[in-house]
Amino acid sequence: MARPNDAGARSREKGEDAGEYRACIRKRRYATQTEAKKAAEKASKRKDAPKIFVYQCEYCGGWHLTHRKPGR
Ligand SMILES: [Zn+2]
Repeated sequence: MARPNDAGARSREKGEDAGEYRACIRKRRYATQTEAKKAAEKASKRKDAPKIFVYQCEYCGGWHLTHRKPGR
């Protein structure tokens, strides 16, 4: 199991972590931040698209997209 060594990830609340773990399973995974950003850019160009953020997942080590601002 990958251990998070990101202090920012550890400061999140437990409930949110559980939610993110579930999100990890369901979400599309990108191998690199560049890939994720490209996908986010594409998605945010769509009409009525919300702002999309990319974040590195502490569970799978890959990158996901989220509509919530990551961190804190
Ligand atoms: Zn993940």
